[in-house]
Amino acid sequence: MTTRSWAEPWKIKVVEPIKMTDRRDRERAIRDAGYNTFLLRSEDVYIDLLTDSGTSAMSDRQWAGMMLGDEAYAGSRNYYHLERAVRDHYGYEHLIPTHQGRGAEHILSRILITPGDHVAGNMYFTTTRAHQELAGATFHDVIIAEAHDPASEHPFKGNVDLGKLGALVDEVGAARMPYLSIAATVNMAGGQPISLANLRAVYEFAHSRGIRVILDATRAVENAWFVQQREPGQRDRTVAEILLDMCRYSDGATMSGKKDSLVNIGGWLALRDEKLAEKARNLVVVFEGLHTYGGMAGRDMEAMAIGIEESVQEDHVRSRIGQVLYLGQKLMDAGVPVVRPIGGHAVFLDAAATLQHLPRERFPAQALAAALYVESGVRAMERGTVSSGRDPRTGVNRTPKLELVRLTIPRRVYTQAHMDVTAESVIEVFRKRDQVAGLEFTYEPEYLRFFQARFQPVGAPGIFGEAAMAGAAAGA
Ligand SMILES: *Cc1c(COP(=O)(O)O)cnc(C)c1O
Repeated sequence: MTTRSWAEPWKIKVVEPIKMTDRRDRERAIRDAGYNTFLLRSEDVYIDLLTDSGTSAMSDRQWAGMMLGDEAYAGSRNYYHLERAVRDHYGYEHLIPTHQGRGAEHILSRILITPGDHVAGNMYFTTTRAHQELAGATFHDVIIAEAHDPASEHPFKGNVDLGKLGALVDEVGAARMPYLSIAATVNMAGGQPISLANLRAVYEFAHSRGIRVILDATRAVENAWFVQQREPGQRDRTVAEILLDMCRYSDGATMSGKKDSLVNIGGWLALRDEKLAEKARNLVVVFEGLHTYGGMAGRDMEAMAIGIEESVQEDHVRSRIGQVLYLGQKLMDAGVPVVRPIGGHAVFLDAAATLQHLPRERFPAQALAAALYVESGVRAMERGTVSSGRDPRTGVNRTPKLELVRLTIPRRVYTQAHMDVTAESVIEVFRKRDQVAGLEFTYEPEYLRFFQARFQPVGAPGIFGEAAMAGAAAGA
């Protein structure tokens, strides 16, 4: 980056001690967790990069806001503060709060989808697609081909392929497409952005065919930063201005406040159309809570309103994405295969390229995440064959082109020193990659299986050590 060092634009006021763990304990812990990092206890983790969802550190202003919680059942003043923050920074007129992002996806899918419909999007997100499918829609991925190629340096791998989208609309008919599901940034592609120009083209095309565009705004602030950095003509605009502009090319949005908005819980659905908003407000009462709290406490809405304002500040976004890039650059310099370019919220290890001795049926990304934990106590997560699940109609395993391990950086939580330790740990596992054994299911849940599935090593346990052998002998 630059020749001068730079540091986090915050100082530490409260500290939370973390435990250093030893290797024997970790071998046992991962075995007891069924080789699934989601099933580890957090107290057995040293540096926790499982997710950036709800794991960010709140500021002193947000904590002060927690004391301003108005816990009235109806009409809490914190709701009106949140409504104003969403109008100011995202530009949507009607706000329906939900307990988190998937609550918004559930309501949206119910009000817009009729069984037999089709929803197209730029790649997919696990909970988003699950709700679309539960409502009876078939999902279609219309992202550009470069998104599926971890080595492609395309600056906007989140872009929609307008040719693919057009062909799909011609095939299934616009009448069966209630909306397009457009994410910014695209989590599953590696935190890759969509360009403002592409977003506008998608919106104009969709509207010419009478199809709505719904933005997954969960990481739209990070997307806005990439637009500022990479898109011609955007360099002199603020992240806040670009964010508002991005949202202009959509009819509404679902949001997980647990990411960009720097809170531990919360989300929302926002719509421009009054009639649709009425429907959503009615349904939210059934599934989440009254339309002025939607499953959140007043204090949580206050923290999110303040978090939204903090999230669009240039210094914050630069350092947030800069920290991710810092880790990514160290791994690239050491020759570790990662998705390029480095995305906004995470560094994605290319497990298929790293563990070439393991076929997809042995879940290389799941195995690599487990191996990294055993080696160092760093917790990452699988984003590959296990996360992809099975096709709901055929029951066959989906095999995505990308078989990744995600090192997700919580916002304002870890320092550059933690990133150094993480990089050294990943590099060590990379050196020992031949010792990483494949896995097989011992338990496979029906929905979103990556959260709760259990596995055991197949053949020699290698890096998983003696605990794995003991587990196999005991039939665990
Ligand atoms: C996390 C996330 C969601 C779901 O939000 P939750 O708050 O976890 O329910 C939806 N879309 C994207 C892109 C996400 O990253």
